[in-house]
Amino acid sequence: MKKKRTITIRDPRLRKVRNGLRNLLMLAEAAEEKRILNKKQKLYNVDGFWDEDHINYKKLNREARKLNSQLNSLSYAYNASIIFCPVCREIDKDMTYNPVSNKWFCIECYNFNQDFEIRQGRPELYP
Ligand SMILES: [Zn+2]
Repeated sequence: MKKKRTITIRDPRLRKVRNGLRNLLMLAEAAEEKRILNKKQKLYNVDGFWDEDHINYKKLNREARKLNSQLNSLSYAYNASIIFCPVCREIDKDMTYNPVSNKWFCIECYNFNQDFEIRQGRPELYP
């Protein structure tokens, strides 16, 4: 997405559905993060992890790097998502997309940051 965009939902029933979906996505993200972290922890508890020729170590370390990469991807996607505002952490607000930072902010935080950046002489950061 390349343009600034605000999504506003006025119907209270639709807002409730949206908030419920955001809550579900937050729970799904937390569950996936926990699953990956558990998998990573199990790697280091394998017997023979510190074997003399380091074959297991190298193999397990490669797997750990793969899991770290999955965690980073998950974290990046979560933080760039529309699920919550990265400033106030609220999940029940209408959101505005900032194409510069590639993130969604609630309208209030977006406007606050925009005013701040304009005063700092960097209006291009919040179009
Ligand atoms: Zn906010």
